[in-house]
Amino acid sequence: MTASQPATTAGELRGAGLRVTAARVALLEIVRGGDHLGAEAIAVQARNRLGHISLQAVYDALYALTEAGLIRRIEPAGSPVRFEGRISDNHHHVVCRSCGTVADVDCAVGEAPCLTASDDHGFAIDEAEVVYWGLCPACSTAVPEPT
Ligand SMILES: [Zn+2]
Ligand SMILES: [Zn+2]
Repeated sequence: MTASQPATTAGELRGAGLRVTAARVALLEIVRGGDHLGAEAIAVQARNRLGHISLQAVYDALYALTEAGLIRRIEPAGSPVRFEGRISDNHHHVVCRSCGTVADVDCAVGEAPCLTASDDHGFAIDEAEVVYWGLCPACSTAVPEPT
């Protein structure tokens, strides 16, 4: 490993220009190990590792990690904010309308913007936000409650 390829989470934080704190190290590892976790679920895991940490401190650290480009924040309409560690590609998400489960969908094109606007109005467009909505396998096969 060379200095330009940080081998540790702390090294990655430093490389991204962030001060290294126990909370940031733990949160980055939790987000990467999780599957589109919400802030509350992240806070629960963070407390298991660090002891007490306020939800506000969790939000602050997640915000710093997002701004530094180490994690990505996704916010499907009507769903709580989720965080993920897969930041190196332009992938999309499929969201269950019923239970809110989120899964990754690889981009068919591979890089943003993957949809060409029919009229760009002179804008230099660099991203198209695509969210697929539907029912997850568990919800689509669930037997409806008798009414
Ligand atoms: Zn579902
Ligand atoms: Zn994702």
